[in-house]
Amino acid sequence: MSATRKNILLVTGVFPPGIGGMQNYYYNICKHSSHNTTVLAPIYTNADCEAFDAGQPFRIVRKPFLKNEKINPFDVFKMFVYTRKLIAEHRIDVTIYGYILVGIIGLILNWMYGHKYVISLHGKDVLETRRFPVVNAIIRLILRRAAGILTNSEYTKKLTMELGIPAEKIKVVYPGVDDVYEPMPKDPELVAEYGLAGKYTLITVSRLVRRKGHDMVIRSMPRILEKIPNAVYMVVGDGPERRDLEALAAKLGVSRQVIFTGRVSDAELPKYFNLGDLFIMPSRLMERKGDVEGFGIVYLEAASCRKPVIGGNSGGVVEAVLNERTGLLVDPTSIDEIVQAVVRIHSDYDFGMFLGEVGYKRSKEQFRYPVIARGYDQYVAGL
Ligand code: GDP
Repeated sequence: MSATRKNILLVTGVFPPGIGGMQNYYYNICKHSSHNTTVLAPIYTNADCEAFDAGQPFRIVRKPFLKNEKINPFDVFKMFVYTRKLIAEHRIDVTIYGYILVGIIGLILNWMYGHKYVISLHGKDVLETRRFPVVNAIIRLILRRAAGILTNSEYTKKLTMELGIPAEKIKVVYPGVDDVYEPMPKDPELVAEYGLAGKYTLITVSRLVRRKGHDMVIRSMPRILEKIPNAVYMVVGDGPERRDLEALAAKLGVSRQVIFTGRVSDAELPKYFNLGDLFIMPSRLMERKGDVEGFGIVYLEAASCRKPVIGGNSGGVVEAVLNERTGLLVDPTSIDEIVQAVVRIHSDYDFGMFLGEVGYKRSKEQFRYPVIARGYDQYVAGL
């Protein structure tokens, strides 16, 4: 690798200590890459960025025109000027843009100096642009001129190809799973706190947004309870849908069986995954809103804890969950299918164990960041 070690600049509007799937993705790729990486990252006013940056094996530059994950269109010029400065100062070979529209900077620097750039895509970002023809035309231009494109799944790759980009130009770099997700016995304190003793626990871990399909699991609960009277549904995470979901559970008379934990800390999260007997998240495509699950790393985090999983047959979920091998895929709009899948895994213990075991092995062998970063490194080295 050393012969092809490149100087890489990542320009991103999301990065730790900010929290979320994309933040983890970029961070872990930088951390495990053997290229020489510089990151132009946002400032977070609610977190200690300096302390975070001090301990990292790569260079992080924070600028106020990237603040709290909001990119003001008027600041793009400042970003342009600063990106150009970093490219010269650190003899950058390739710049990666983690936000599709900011790729306009890459396009202009390419026109001006022939500087190479890569765009990283996540699915939702591609889908969203379909609604705006002018934006869509600019995006096509940005993507066409890019030296390469990274996507988080084959699904996102397919969406990108629909914009007229050839397959050879696109490299799938899946998100990875942190080593902290391991099978462990249910934590007795949490079992007591949430009253889970003797319960069959369904669990979802995610932001509470509509596409994740929490509402469909809650709607399925009355019928699940007919078959599995000791079932409970644990909703881990927070988000804009929380109130509506609580109201829905009350309306259906399942408030006692639906537990909302709110957001839990990173350190506690592996324990929460392990409280579940079954992980469920029937994510759905919301085409008109331009919202889709580009991949769904939580399915693999659950699999890493040896949990059987149920996913919605949509977007990149079909790659994160292998139907009948690591879990079951259901029509996310069908209560029938959700109920049947839950009851099947509950009633066939060996099948559940089989799904958990296959998922565990797959996750540990193929989705650890040192493995994921190798594919990324080779791709970037060849640009
Ligand atoms: P996205 O946010 O829709 O992109 O969903 P992803 O599945 O890509 O990523 C979500 C990430 O956030 C996963 O790594 C989850 O484990 C993590 N996450 C979701 N909810 C919580 C929570 O309540 N606490 C913590 N610590 N992490 C969470």
